[in-house]
Amino acid sequence: MKSRTIINIKGIVQGVGFRPFIYNLAGRLNLFGYVLNNTSGVSIEVEGEHADIEEFIESVKTHPPPQSEIFEIQSAHTDPAGYADFEIRESEGVEEKFVPISPELATCKDCISELFDPEDRRYRYPFINCTNCGPRFTIVKDIPYDRKFTTMSVFSMCEKCGSEYHDPSNRRFHAQPNACSVCGPRLILLDSERKEIPVEDVISEACRLLKEGNIIAVKGLGGYHLACDAQNNNAVSRLRARKFREYKPFALMVKDIKTAKEICFVNEKEEQLLNGVKRPIVLLKKRPDAPVSEGVAPNQKYFGVMLPYTPAHHLLIAESGLVLVMTSANISSEPIVYEDKDAFERLGGITDYYVIHNREINIRTDDSVIRVERGREVVLRRSRGYVPHPLLMKRPFAEQILACGAELKNTFCLTRENYVFLSHHIGDLENMETLSSFEKGIEHFKKMFNIEPEVVAHDLHPEYLSTKYARALKDIRKVGVQHHHAHIISCMGDNDLEGEIIGVSFDGTGYGLDGKIWGGEFLICNYHSFQRAAHFEYFQLNGGEKAIKEPWRITASLLHKIYGDDMMDLKIDFIRELDKDKWHILQQMIARNINSPMTSSAGRLFDAVSALLGIRKEIHYEGQAAIELEMKAASEDNGRYEFDYKEHEGKTEIVLEPVIKGIVADLEKGTGIGSISARFHNTVAGLVSDMCKKLRDQTALDRVALSGGVFQNSLLMEKTYTLLDENGFKVYTHHRVPTNDGGLALGQAIIANEMIKTGKV
Ligand code: ZN
Ligand code: ZN
Ligand code: FE
Repeated sequence: MKSRTIINIKGIVQGVGFRPFIYNLAGRLNLFGYVLNNTSGVSIEVEGEHADIEEFIESVKTHPPPQSEIFEIQSAHTDPAGYADFEIRESEGVEEKFVPISPELATCKDCISELFDPEDRRYRYPFINCTNCGPRFTIVKDIPYDRKFTTMSVFSMCEKCGSEYHDPSNRRFHAQPNACSVCGPRLILLDSERKEIPVEDVISEACRLLKEGNIIAVKGLGGYHLACDAQNNNAVSRLRARKFREYKPFALMVKDIKTAKEICFVNEKEEQLLNGVKRPIVLLKKRPDAPVSEGVAPNQKYFGVMLPYTPAHHLLIAESGLVLVMTSANISSEPIVYEDKDAFERLGGITDYYVIHNREINIRTDDSVIRVERGREVVLRRSRGYVPHPLLMKRPFAEQILACGAELKNTFCLTRENYVFLSHHIGDLENMETLSSFEKGIEHFKKMFNIEPEVVAHDLHPEYLSTKYARALKDIRKVGVQHHHAHIISCMGDNDLEGEIIGVSFDGTGYGLDGKIWGGEFLICNYHSFQRAAHFEYFQLNGGEKAIKEPWRITASLLHKIYGDDMMDLKIDFIRELDKDKWHILQQMIARNINSPMTSSAGRLFDAVSALLGIRKEIHYEGQAAIELEMKAASEDNGRYEFDYKEHEGKTEIVLEPVIKGIVADLEKGTGIGSISARFHNTVAGLVSDMCKKLRDQTALDRVALSGGVFQNSLLMEKTYTLLDENGFKVYTHHRVPTNDGGLALGQAIIANEMIKTGKV
């Protein structure tokens, strides 16, 4: 007795070899029927013996293709239709549905062995790929995921590629970017004047040029990298000088785990992530004798390391034998360069050569950055390899929501049913280039996931371009969300938590309800609302934005507030080295209160301490002063400074004076800055723990969420986590989305959803 079952599968099931898997499975079990991609996933009908159908469904559930992810399987039995074979049918468009698209997949083992096999027809072909690997999100222009809707559409497959593509038993069956040297994209070598250098083999010539110490702009999956030999001091310092990026660390690309281990300490989890299909940059602790130019990551304890993830990378690394600097090609805070025209304009003065290719990148995606904390992967920049994989939430969203994120490290997100589609890293939304990337990104995501948001959530800061964008939208309901509330709810969403929690949100900048700049906040909050229970006392940012770039201003103003004019008598280097003319001007500013916004920012406090210790008085990239302060900390020092508290308008204010005085006393005693830095970290961790205990006494809450950019500081994070844990708290930190503003949109979306459900919007 034959029976027929209709099966619908939702999840990441397109572009990951799902249909050939189904085809082969059906063949093995003697089932007839068909499989097709539609805009909500994969649709299957199988007809045959009942037991075989059961086994079929079981196999789909338990052994799907490695890169796929099934969110939902629905099946229904019906009368047999009399199918005579099993076929793969044309994709079908269904209105109002959507299908998650796979992120980029690192070159798989099978493709690598073909790449290096002189007998293979794709030997040394830099664009080799299959259903298990290759470009995805960066080449997709529209759905469903079919070659004609990707940037591969301009290449028509040769006969051999075509027959692989159409053969269900082939591992390139319906591999949309399938190509070979006869029919597919190719590499092109250009000199600094963008004139093509006619060479027989671009890779070997590029390797020779890299070994000679040249800088090459290499077009990859989601944009351009600037590459050079990481062991060549000259090349590295030339790249630094040309890129006007004197201090920010460069990422490294190494051949394999063995090479990574020669440079860094690598634990099992880190090894697994380095080797994984997402291929992020993994932050790894440097070995003291790491054979890499000092200029790669000056003043850092960590290197950002990744393994090759495209065939071209594999060829470059294998044939050059080099450890390569592979840093995103961008100009200061602009997003990564991804269009050829743009690359030529922007990288002109920087690169000696270009290795480009003729496959268009539809959407830029930077390398993702992660690290391992307590054995768990923690995402710091979520982009290539992760995006557009949706975050799956426990409960569905009431409506489709767009959340615009903040300003720095911007990402946006769109929601649909139980899914949050968090965008790739857009960058700092402070110029037209990034803004247009943001706007285009939103339109692209809307189209790809068939989302038409009815509600938009945005930050409260009136000057953020993301806020302005949201407020200018027509025919859409708007929800303004306080920055630090969004951080904590993002952390709750990241951990699938509900209810009420103690939130510790420490970051650089966030617009407060009183119009001041918050950033050292203890919030009692739930999805719906928050109460600001405690915060750092306000201090001045003299010169506004300038104080962020020149933290010595904050330090001087803090010292003046505490010591008055007597500060000039302090026996510390900071005062000895203080530029008296600049100080005079600053003092007048303080006296007249000109351009001196008030802040409770924890990030700025770290900056001020860094400047006080003489570590970094002016910064060249966001967070530099605090990062270098962390890097200087001596691990064995357990000392701690005092903090004071005062109650003010129902809130606890944390008074900074004792901690600053403690540091100054240590400096006058000649205590090393390594010890002082460690003591300061201990102090902040201790303060968080003390304050949470106080709030637990008041509220009986024992869960704490830590969020905000300051918690990228892994020393602070570890110390804080340990103390809270020892004191009986359940501590939650970010892992799926960044703790910095790159994760903010998730919190905004969840809060907006709560507003919808309670009829507030
Ligand atoms: Zn492959
Ligand atoms: Zn071909
Ligand atoms: Fe923030």
